[in-house]
Amino acid sequence: MPENVATIDATPQPERSKSDLSDQMSAAVERLRARFGTGVTRSLEWREKQLDGVIAFLEDHTSALTAAMHQDLGRPALEAWIADIGPSIAEAKYVRKNLRKWAKPRKVSLSIATQPGKARIVPEPLGVALIIAPWNYPVNLVFEPLVAALGAGNAVVLKPSELSPATSTLIARELPSYLDREAVAVIEGAVDVSTALLEQRFDHIFFTGSTNVGRIVMRAAAEHLTPVLLELGGKSPVIVDDDANIAAAANRIAWGKGLNAGQTCIAPDYVLVSERRRDELVDALVAAWSNFYGRDIESSADFGRIVSDRHHRRLTGLLDGHEVAFGGGSTSETRYLSPTIVVDPSPASDLMTEEIFGPILPIVTVADTDHAIQFVNERPKPLALYVFSENGDAVDRVTSQTSSGGVCVNHTLFHFSPHDLAFGGVGPSGMGRYHGQAGFDALSNLKGILTKPAGLETSIIYPPYGKLKSRLLRLVT
Ligand code: NAD
Repeated sequence: MPENVATIDATPQPERSKSDLSDQMSAAVERLRARFGTGVTRSLEWREKQLDGVIAFLEDHTSALTAAMHQDLGRPALEAWIADIGPSIAEAKYVRKNLRKWAKPRKVSLSIATQPGKARIVPEPLGVALIIAPWNYPVNLVFEPLVAALGAGNAVVLKPSELSPATSTLIARELPSYLDREAVAVIEGAVDVSTALLEQRFDHIFFTGSTNVGRIVMRAAAEHLTPVLLELGGKSPVIVDDDANIAAAANRIAWGKGLNAGQTCIAPDYVLVSERRRDELVDALVAAWSNFYGRDIESSADFGRIVSDRHHRRLTGLLDGHEVAFGGGSTSETRYLSPTIVVDPSPASDLMTEEIFGPILPIVTVADTDHAIQFVNERPKPLALYVFSENGDAVDRVTSQTSSGGVCVNHTLFHFSPHDLAFGGVGPSGMGRYHGQAGFDALSNLKGILTKPAGLETSIIYPPYGKLKSRLLRLVT
């Protein structure tokens, strides 16, 4: 925990009745809608000011946010910076820099049939957006969606997660004074608050969380035909080809699984490898974790903790009945769970059917990379897929014969970072894309406008349709 930073008092809020909650949420949304209705959020100056506010908040509160994430997740200070605060500031600055370019009308060429005229796509704000965030990256997954929504000129209701209460309380308490309070509301709460919010009509819902809650969100959105961007979870596989550099692969998989104690939506969930390289890979993974965290991982300041007792019990339960090849150590009082390897668990076990979301890594033996591809394709489309190989042909086969939200070749997690590498899932791992311009576009109405000259009449389209008109029209349309 950084020095000179007080612990955040994140005592849960008192219970409110269902109708009270509904009324409060409705009033909050109406207030923002009224502000949006004034047109103030459309101006690029307003948007830039909000992004400046986001940057200033994050810079002013870097050490307090770091402490809050330590309180919530035992998050090491450097990980709080590299995975949460740093990328949020970088994204806000990137959107701030490119906003005017993205907001410009985009010229579209016309076919002969639609000439004369001029066509353009004009991005306009959608209205009031709802952002519901998870706890695992409680800064990044609040601020990157917020930056997209504000950059696109929307009013925003932001609901951070109740499972990272120190971070959420800090954001709710301090962020509003950096932003237009009439256009941005931070509302803390758990399922009851989320449910009351989802009853309201929004113009966009940006949800990051589990696939099951994603379904609830989409059902609620359907009531109002509200567009959704769903950033969901699932099992992200790693294929280690026979031609992989095993030492590098092991370091990168161990790092991707160790960050935030495996509680990352795109953490490597399990590894597929042939018997020819399996034991070498297991040894290299064990060596990598030992190099990162020392022999006594529990006492390492660089390894995080599981977010809640419930999740700790869920994870230790996933190990029931499995032989552990490495790790397995656990302390329920501190919610510690060691990086753990299980070799060849049954494909029907919970370990191989549920998203793990913790530091347990199943290693599954397959005949070869083509069988690994088949294994992936027999399961729901993942959010991320990793392939390690120095053989271009094997990499091409994996990337072209599988479907996933994104792919990272010869590393893990890194594809989340580039501003212009649109991020998102496919099928049960999500829908829609964000980061950079993709986020700006997702939170905008890309309105198509065709302008025809007022005086130049194209009477050929009007009845009566004689033979000549008919022939000409068939030629050009
Ligand atoms: P979660 O779905 O339990 O909760 C996410 C948010 O939804 C929280 O704010 C919570 O209050 C709210 N919520 C929970 N239950 C609800 C309900 N019944 N109705 C309405 N709202 C409800 O997810 P989590 O445990 O916070 O996060 C872990 C999950 O999120 C994992 O599955 C992970 O893969 C996924 N995730 C995805 C991404 C991504 O970018 N695709 C990023 C981080 C996490």
